[in-house]
Amino acid sequence: MSRKITIAIDGYSSTGKSTMAKALAQHLGYLYVDSGAMYRAVTWWAMNNGWIQEHSIDIDQMLHHLPELSIELTTSSEGFMDVWVHGEKITDAIRSMEVAQRVSQIASIAEIRHFLVAKQQQMGLEKGVVMDGRDIGTVVFPQAELKVFVQADAQVRAKRRFDELQAKGQIVDFQEILANVNDRDHQDTHRAVSPLVQAKDARVLDNTQMGRAEQLTLLINWADQAINP
Ligand code: C5P
Repeated sequence: MSRKITIAIDGYSSTGKSTMAKALAQHLGYLYVDSGAMYRAVTWWAMNNGWIQEHSIDIDQMLHHLPELSIELTTSSEGFMDVWVHGEKITDAIRSMEVAQRVSQIASIAEIRHFLVAKQQQMGLEKGVVMDGRDIGTVVFPQAELKVFVQADAQVRAKRRFDELQAKGQIVDFQEILANVNDRDHQDTHRAVSPLVQAKDARVLDNTQMGRAEQLTLLINWADQAINP
């Protein structure tokens, strides 16, 4: 049996990281962890408790209750990941525009990051994991055997996100999505704690002009090289 490694996939919003990370994990028989879903889950939880208002966030209340927060990620036999907070399934709820608009603000709070990073490191203890996010190769698993940094043109990313939400029947505005993509990029790259940066030893994947099959082939190739150096 070949050795198991840790694979970190980082990059900008809506680059399709999760889709390709999930497909790679399935191919390798690895655990897949969507770390962004965890930041979204915290955001949903804080909104649901009324701690996030239009113009303010009650950080004290959030941090006071944080140790009690139970977030669970489960994977169905078909490979779909579900997200649960205190036993409530919030898989779809965390994909709303309301959550997307506030998540980067919540993800910039150091205590929230420490809380989630510890959970993520715990999930990867046994290796054989593909995790995607913004700081996986730099902070969560700096020793990962394979690090990938994904980027694509912002207009192309917004169009993909637009098509995806429309297919789900959501009424969305392209300009609003483009603004959200640009805004999250800005917040994620400019925050003080663990900003989104390309790890020095990451391989860059620009998928502006690439289809899913082509990306997966490339990733499988890189993973094979990392497993058998
Ligand atoms: O990956 P996704 O777009 O769902 O992530 C939502 C948000 O969570 C990102 O825009 C970013 O602000 C935050 N995030 C993060 N660190 C991670 C994963 C996500 O700060 N490892």
